[in-house]
Amino acid sequence: MKKLEDYVRSIPDFPEEGVIFRDVTSILEEAEGLQLAINAMQELVKDVDFDVVIGPESRGFIFGVPIAYNLKKAFVPVRKKGKLPRETVEMEYDLEYGSATLEMHADAIKPGQKVVIIDDLIATGGTTEAIVKLIEALGGEVVKITFLMELAGLNGRDKLKGYDVETVICYE
Ligand code: IMP
Repeated sequence: MKKLEDYVRSIPDFPEEGVIFRDVTSILEEAEGLQLAINAMQELVKDVDFDVVIGPESRGFIFGVPIAYNLKKAFVPVRKKGKLPRETVEMEYDLEYGSATLEMHADAIKPGQKVVIIDDLIATGGTTEAIVKLIEALGGEVVKITFLMELAGLNGRDKLKGYDVETVICYE
C-alpha cells in the first residue's frame, strides 16, 4: 500500500529555479491519497477542544472544510483582499517579492472562540502569522495550527513560537 508521502510529486525549479515545489494536487487526484491526507490531518485535531476551523484561500479550503464537517465544527474562510462581501478586517504581510493582504469577515469569530488553523503547507510562515493576527484581532484564541506539509528549512515555525503547530509530512 502506498503511503501519503508517495502521492506527493516534487517538482524541481517551480515556480523558479532552485525551488522544489511540493505538489498537493497529486495527492488529491488519487482517491486513496485524498483519504489519507484528510484522515491524517483530522487525527491531529480530533481531540482538541475548539469551535471553528479557519482555512485560508485556496488550499486551506480543501483540507479545512471536510475536517470541520466531520468534527461538526464551523468553518471560516480567510480570503485574499476584495473577495468577501461584508465588513472585513485585513492584514498585510510580506511575500518574497512585495506584499499581500488577507481578509476575514469582521463578525466571523466571536470573542473567546477557540480556533484551529488548517492549511496545506507552511513555508516561511508569513501567511499563517498574518492569519493568527487576524484571529486574535477578532478576539479568537488559536489553540492549534496544522499543515499537511512543512518545508522545515525555511524555519516557518519561528514565526509561530508559543503556538501548538503540527504537520503530517516534514521536508528538511
Ligand atoms: P508561507 O507564507 O511562506 O508559509 O507560504 C505558505 C503558502 O505558500 C502555502 O499556503 C502554500 O500554498 C504556498 N507554497 C509555498 N511553497 C509551496 C510548495 O512547495 N508547494 C505548495 N505550496 C507552496
